[in-house]
Amino acid sequence: SKPIVAIVGRPNVGKSTLFNRLVGHRRAIVDDMPGVTRDRNYATVNKYEVPFILVDTGGFEPVTEDRLLQQMREQSQLAMEEADVIFFVMDGREGLTPADREVAGMLRKVNKPVFYLVNKIDGEKLELASSDFYSLGIDSMHTISAEHNRGINDLIEELMGIL
Ligand code: GDP
Ligand code: MG
Repeated sequence: SKPIVAIVGRPNVGKSTLFNRLVGHRRAIVDDMPGVTRDRNYATVNKYEVPFILVDTGGFEPVTEDRLLQQMREQSQLAMEEADVIFFVMDGREGLTPADREVAGMLRKVNKPVFYLVNKIDGEKLELASSDFYSLGIDSMHTISAEHNRGINDLIEELMGIL
């Protein structure tokens, strides 16, 4: 069976946009309102060297601030159980948030490859802001723009290397 790659992260960081980008057509609903992804969305990605199953996660939202953390814990827990690889997406424009730190802390304990993705880095000028994310204690991250297809080739190349 194909390896499973799960996309996790706070609402509105661009998970569904990344999902659509990698699947190659619009399947997940992208919306400005945080977290319109309902439940979970699965697709098989066949266009790269190694086929894999991609999972977009969301929840039944909109959520209140205090529900957010709990929902992210559940979401991440599920992903850690079912996925072979985890894409943890953060928002490079908004910067690091307490919820990001909490989930990063959970993911650090899992014995699976985790890709730290700083999204919405649409151009060179924004690269600088992303250095903040190293305070999570991570060795490497990918700065990407799911919307503008920036950094996606590098991401896929690294993914193919471990699948
Ligand atoms: P999700 O809740 O994590 O699934 O986030 P969505 O994929 O629904 O995206 C939330 C918002 O962020 C939408 O308005 C997207 O158009 C926007 N967005 C997603 N990726 C990017 C990106 O790379 N750059 C910018 N500037 N906006 C993005
Ligand atoms: Mg979504």
